[in-house]
Amino acid sequence: MSNKIKVGVLGATGAVGQRFVHMLQGHPWFEITALCASDRSTSKRYADACKWNLRGDMPEALRDVVLQDCQPGIDCEIVFGGLPTEVAGPIEEAFAVAGYVVCSNSSNHRYDPDVPLMIPEVNPEHLQLIETQKRKRGWPGFIICNPNCTTTHLVSALHPLHVRFGLKKVFVVTMQAVSGAGYPGVSSMDILDNVVPYIGGEEAKVEQKEPHKLLGVLDGDGVRYADFVVSAHCNRVPVRNAHLEAISVEFATQPTEEEVLNAWRYYDPLPQQLKLPSAPQPAILYDERPDRPQPRLDRLKGTVPGMATVIGRLRPDPLFHWKFLSLGHNTIRGAAGGSILNAELLVAQGYLGERASALAAVREFA
Ligand code: NAP
Repeated sequence: MSNKIKVGVLGATGAVGQRFVHMLQGHPWFEITALCASDRSTSKRYADACKWNLRGDMPEALRDVVLQDCQPGIDCEIVFGGLPTEVAGPIEEAFAVAGYVVCSNSSNHRYDPDVPLMIPEVNPEHLQLIETQKRKRGWPGFIICNPNCTTTHLVSALHPLHVRFGLKKVFVVTMQAVSGAGYPGVSSMDILDNVVPYIGGEEAKVEQKEPHKLLGVLDGDGVRYADFVVSAHCNRVPVRNAHLEAISVEFATQPTEEEVLNAWRYYDPLPQQLKLPSAPQPAILYDERPDRPQPRLDRLKGTVPGMATVIGRLRPDPLFHWKFLSLGHNTIRGAAGGSILNAELLVAQGYLGERASALAAVREFA
């Protein structure tokens, strides 16, 4: 019998859910023991309920697994959430109340003061909020969240610069993939031969909340948000996967070109130091070519495909200090992969108990 940590996927038939299923195949620490979806799918075989949309076939071992309701009682310790915002909030809370560890992709709890909003490279210390959450809410389990997929690759690129030079102003124009809207998402008639210059709620998340919480500092039972201004234009473009972001930045202290490049080049955050299974080595790739990064060519770059942030085209900005491009995969690092890395950090830092930590340690050095 396997001694891996049992995990369940909520929303297993969706765009993010399928990514979880794909990425968890052969994971060294985790094994899927439950798949859940809506009542449209429950009691059906995964192969019958899920229109598999990823390259390669649906994992053979999961084809006959019967989908369950998204309710506590399923056989696992961790639940990975890929549920629509309209339903995720109370479902995730019910799991935490029942003692599960919830790694969510939805926005419902991202801004709760006692819920860690995590990019493991950026703010691993925010996991300490779990103690506050458990104390205040009296739950045996807990919830942690990843940011919106757009925020992820913005903040991943900015973090090494913020810690050295201090962000003052950020201006970002996004070119976001259609898979970011879930499946079936934006209709082909709306997106082919077109750009849709509106993504509901997206600009507010990027301008007002998520980067500031992620780059904020722990302060008592919450996070003191980082103090800088963001202006965002979010656009849906006819690309299947990966968000490309054109970013301009003004800093408290203006760095030289070499200092910016070195900040990315020598970035060696905790997940990379711990050699977590889903941590790309390195976390940030800088592409020197003048016409890169590009979604189709660069979204799977790096040692763990889809988990790195690819940056390019650093140049002076006549309005701000520097401008550049950042590219990242939205359903991998921006969703399922980000959640899995969060869970790996939890295991490595002892939040799942000694048995899990020991399992991770043994496998790491095997
Ligand atoms: P999606 O493709 O629409 O999938 C939604 C999933 O949730 C399906 O498995 C669906 O099951 C299930 N579901 C729907 N209503 C339900 C209900 N009432 N009870 C239980 N399950 C229900 O959406 P998605 O793109 O994967 O997004 C999932 C979440 O991740 C959203 O909160 C989204 O904002 C977030 N997110 C998405 C991305 C991305 O790139 N797509 C990135 C970051 C974060 P059925 O098949 O049975 O309907």
